[in-house]
Amino acid sequence: MEQNTPPEKLTGELEVSKPYTEAAGVEAIVKSMEHILSGTGLIRGLKVLADLNQKDGFDCPSCAWPDPDGDRSKLGEYCESGAKAVADEIMTKHSASPVLFQRYSVAELLEKGDLWLGQQGRLTQPMVLKPGATHYEPIEWADAFQLIAGQLNVLASPDEAIFYTSGRTSNEAAFLYQLFVRMFGTNNMPDCSNMCHESTSVALAESLGLGKASVKYDDYEKADVIMIMGQNPGTNAPRMLTPLEQAKRNGAKIVAVNPLHEAGLLSFKYPQSVRDVVFGGQKLADVFLQIPINSDLALLKAMCKLLLEEEKKSPGKVLDQQFIQQYTAGYDAFVKSLDQFELSDLAAQCGQTIEQIQEVVDLFKYTPRLIICWAMGLTQHRNSVQTINEVINLLLLKGSIGIEGGGASPIRGHSNVQGDRTMGIWEKPKPEFLDALKRVFKFEPPRENGYDTVAAVKAMHEGKAKVFFGLGGNFAMAVSDTNYTADALKTCKLTVHVSTKLNRSHLIHGETALILPCLGRTDHDVQATGEQFVSCESTTGVVAQSHG
Ligand code: SF4
Repeated sequence: MEQNTPPEKLTGELEVSKPYTEAAGVEAIVKSMEHILSGTGLIRGLKVLADLNQKDGFDCPSCAWPDPDGDRSKLGEYCESGAKAVADEIMTKHSASPVLFQRYSVAELLEKGDLWLGQQGRLTQPMVLKPGATHYEPIEWADAFQLIAGQLNVLASPDEAIFYTSGRTSNEAAFLYQLFVRMFGTNNMPDCSNMCHESTSVALAESLGLGKASVKYDDYEKADVIMIMGQNPGTNAPRMLTPLEQAKRNGAKIVAVNPLHEAGLLSFKYPQSVRDVVFGGQKLADVFLQIPINSDLALLKAMCKLLLEEEKKSPGKVLDQQFIQQYTAGYDAFVKSLDQFELSDLAAQCGQTIEQIQEVVDLFKYTPRLIICWAMGLTQHRNSVQTINEVINLLLLKGSIGIEGGGASPIRGHSNVQGDRTMGIWEKPKPEFLDALKRVFKFEPPRENGYDTVAAVKAMHEGKAKVFFGLGGNFAMAVSDTNYTADALKTCKLTVHVSTKLNRSHLIHGETALILPCLGRTDHDVQATGEQFVSCESTTGVVAQSHG
């Protein structure tokens, strides 16, 4: 067993049980309260939850699902995952204070599980691990900043430093961070988006000119067909189930495309609905296309071919020819490119019959109010950019972009991952963004593209990068190859993590290591000018205030 991963004490037999066929319900409320009670008192917990995702409250630090544009539910505008993320931040029963670091050496902490590390509570004090030391010890803020500056200023080049960003970082912190890093002289700004929706950003920028969703929250309730590809709303954006349920009640059809029958796509019990809790949830997916992993491209091409055939049968009734002529380029070449594919081959590739695919095409052939959502199931493959471009091809054929009830809807993970990109957290900054920085802040920003996450890990592993700075996140555990990444981090002269709580990446360290505590989204931030707030951007591009 490798040194970096904790020895799993597997006790007893693996339990195999029937998969869930319904998401949320009363169980979600019970679980949420358990999370809250595990860290703080119920009254305090409920008081804080009452502000979660409210207009004058704070933005959920967990995922990027947007809040309703209109009224928010006073009963609670959060899901179990949101409650858990908040419970982690407002924990009072434990705190990861210097006492904890005195009691446990880094080696002993490495033996602990990730859940245990997270349950030790909020970090309270800057901590340093000196070269050769076994335990972290307290350090004053000024000394910590001096240590970082000292290490950065002796680097042969600013490109020997890596500045990572986790998607929990607020817009304001992200903007100042990128400015600091670029004034220091590098674009080495890998972020968690490199590991989740990078292919989305590339594909949408190519096809729509903007790497973001084209839908708003209330488009869901106006859609006629919602196709959910490679995404599991019940787990990674549970509150998405509410507008999906409303869309169903408004007559929409939902198509799930997934290798797995995910409970959240089968049925949803809205915890705030007595009807759902008593009589059972709302069936969500009308059609479930269970396709092999990464066969979405074949399915989408098959759908486009069938749409073109339907257009031949009913000219002008299926494709939005006026939209295609006025707003798109490359239509003829695209149609021609489909000729090289046999429908039967495409259907076989995605494990469906042509009839099954036709059944779905029949749902949206006469309406442009089609929304296609996707997440990691589409973005984590070598051909993901191509697949996502095919999603856009289908939507453009239908004229479903820029209309009510239709559009492209990538569902991003981390709560402000999209905002961070908007703020300039990107290793490939656009020249016009750098020109603007130069104009406003009177300095010459670096123009060379920097390292993305994979390149950053390789650079550390090869000794080309000597300082790693993580603004939030759990880098070592987030990157796919944990052990290679861990070995890379250990080659550094200095590793720095800005965090709210203890995690495993703090224990996989360079020659010198620093942990710097920071405020979380739930925290009051009172400065000389009074109470502060931050802003975050949701997966539908809505920028909202967040008052801790
Ligand atoms: S859906 Fe996402 S943003 Fe909303 S409460 Fe749940 S975890 Fe938080």
